[in-house]
Amino acid sequence: MTRRDVCGARSMPDKGADVMASDLRSVTRHLAIVSALLGSAAASPANAEPGDPATPEHGCAHASFDGPPLRDGRPLPRPVRGEYDDDTDVLHYDLELEIVPDDEMLIGRSVLTVRSCTTDLAHLDVWLDTLLDIASITVDGQPASWMRPEFPIVRIALDQLYGEDEVFEVAIDYQGFPEPEWRGSISFDLHGGTPVVWTYSQPWYAYTWQPVKEDNTDKATGELHIIAPDWMVVASNGLHQGTEDLPGERQVTSWRTDYQTTPYLFSFAATDYDVIASNWVYQGYVMPLEFYIYPEHNTVDNVEALLEISDMLEAFGDLFGPYPFIDEKYGVCQTELGGGMEHQTISTQGYFDGWLNAHELAHQWWGDLITCDTWHHIWLNEGFATYAEALWMEARAGDVAALHDWMATRPVGPSAGVVYVDDPSNPSRVFRYETTYKKAAWVLHQLRYIVGKQVFLDILAEYRSRHAFETVVTDDFIAAAEDVSGLELNWFFDPWLYEPGIADYDAAWQVSEMDGSYLIDVKLEQSGAWGAPLFTMPIEIVVLSSDGETHHRIWNDDWTEYYVLESHAEPLEVVVDPDHWILRRDVGTASMGGIPPKIIRSDVMPGERLPVAALERGVTLTFQTDVTMTTNDVELLDGAGALVPVLVSPIDGDERFMRLTVLGDAQPGAATLTVYDTVRNATTYTPLDGELTHDWGEPTLPSGDGQTGGDAIFAFTIVPPGDLNGDGIVDMTDLGILLASFEVDDGGDIDGDGDTDISDLGALLAWYGYGT
Ligand SMILES: [Zn+2]
Repeated sequence: MTRRDVCGARSMPDKGADVMASDLRSVTRHLAIVSALLGSAAASPANAEPGDPATPEHGCAHASFDGPPLRDGRPLPRPVRGEYDDDTDVLHYDLELEIVPDDEMLIGRSVLTVRSCTTDLAHLDVWLDTLLDIASITVDGQPASWMRPEFPIVRIALDQLYGEDEVFEVAIDYQGFPEPEWRGSISFDLHGGTPVVWTYSQPWYAYTWQPVKEDNTDKATGELHIIAPDWMVVASNGLHQGTEDLPGERQVTSWRTDYQTTPYLFSFAATDYDVIASNWVYQGYVMPLEFYIYPEHNTVDNVEALLEISDMLEAFGDLFGPYPFIDEKYGVCQTELGGGMEHQTISTQGYFDGWLNAHELAHQWWGDLITCDTWHHIWLNEGFATYAEALWMEARAGDVAALHDWMATRPVGPSAGVVYVDDPSNPSRVFRYETTYKKAAWVLHQLRYIVGKQVFLDILAEYRSRHAFETVVTDDFIAAAEDVSGLELNWFFDPWLYEPGIADYDAAWQVSEMDGSYLIDVKLEQSGAWGAPLFTMPIEIVVLSSDGETHHRIWNDDWTEYYVLESHAEPLEVVVDPDHWILRRDVGTASMGGIPPKIIRSDVMPGERLPVAALERGVTLTFQTDVTMTTNDVELLDGAGALVPVLVSPIDGDERFMRLTVLGDAQPGAATLTVYDTVRNATTYTPLDGELTHDWGEPTLPSGDGQTGGDAIFAFTIVPPGDLNGDGIVDMTDLGILLASFEVDDGGDIDGDGDTDISDLGALLAWYGYGT
């Protein structure tokens, strides 16, 4: 659904008119079809293909709630999966419903086909509004007793104890004068003076017009036989089964879906519709498209907008996999609803803007095929549909700029709350546009940014294949994202889904020149405004120079962090997150302050094998800024574990270049060079940011985890002279390598003078036998 929904007072007409229910029984039942359907459902494969309507049931689940709900609609949904009483499984709803617009009255007969999931099922609970009087209830054709223990439950005593997998039918005859709950659960409205009757059950208001087991997890097939004045055209779920005349200038219009449907996604709408029908062809399928539009809105613009849904079906089919209900139809019916609602195979919409058409259509995958298990997880419906608006804009334009442009129309303020719904008892909190729609869409947008578009689509495909025709919780999506991407993603999902606010960065940068290239110190701060948590994110930083743009992606995981970037041309501008992939406020200006020195080059790197001769020539460390560094700031332990004295001095007086001269003999073997964070910025005395290892990947330079402080630890191996193949010993193999290169190339160059000559041979022989 979308946020802008119908509201405002509607006058409730006089309920005193008398109504006849006798003709109800005259309509042909379809029990034989139901039985046949049950047979096919039981025999269908466990992993049905998309488009296969004979998908097996999700499983047994049973409505219950935590406390007495109020008449004005606060039945408490269950908080988490696993708290259902899994003792019944509705297989099929067969509803015959007469709507009497003049009296705003309903006369209904609903037959529920139910499977027992326990060994001794004694009663069935359904929800039905107390405004609807129950005339009779039968179980397998025999009169049954029932009670209403609390609103809106009807507890039906079964005629026997039903064992596991036993199936029975409950028929409920009822009638009354319903009142719409929330955004119009059942509404008798007017458009241009003409009656229009429509339903909108989300999140849990189906009970206002039909008996229902209120439980998202218990999906079922269904048929609706709507009896209405014969001038009305009736739209509903699935395929049209026929329309027959009835006495009294009435008609019965039958619809039926063989796809598993969660209770709130059944719907109908009836008025003097114009019907615009076409066919959609995709990968060998031909599927009906049906649009039910008010005659006064049957304009060229509206029809064009609706027919564009063909293109959307193709675009979403390419992105999400084929339309899930391809063996039936997709339709849109117009009602007085202010926005839209994604009733399965027949969306209800108040208007036909392209973005709204895309939003409701995308819900057919995200919301209908895969449904939030409880309303805590509504973002899995609405965030996806909202992001799909942007995906449609991108697909239509063939340009990622259109994606960003559309996301810019879905801004989220810094005071935004939490995406995950802690307390879903209030539907206005469940369907809060700022959080469960827009911020949730940004969560998906950022996930795509982190993993890349193709992996993002692979995640959606995996999520779909795991959960089609079922219900999901947030962890199901996270699991699919982690499994497909190979990344642990709690650092991303936790703050964005379970904490308030959005990211808020301040940035500063400054440039220095070194050896003809440029070093850029960048400082980033997060404000944590409005209670926002620390957001850990990779952040794109673009350096603009006369040479063009250079893109960097930095890892930001603390409130204040420092980075060093390099540019071959003089930087003119540094832009943080230029494409606005991150949900954030405009980037503000920080003060640069004291910059922690970072090591940007080193003659030795962790894991390297450094010949003794090279070590003896000394090691140069390069910093991006002037540092104070003395012998006390460094420690070298050689291959024997002995402390080797080191002399530290700036090269040519430039305090960015520090020469470490090794005083004394360093023994070959595993060695460690530690540069302590007692090294300071020469101007501000800010300590070294020295760490070389990160949570991921190989050690890299520049050093540092972004924050001031931290030693640089170079673990490397001192290689004895002559160990040319690097196996730790000096033997015949090394001698062979040297002789093969002798005065030919530098393959045996031990002393580092660029060729292989007699001095190299001497060095090898001096160490010959080492380590053997
Ligand atoms: Zn929606």
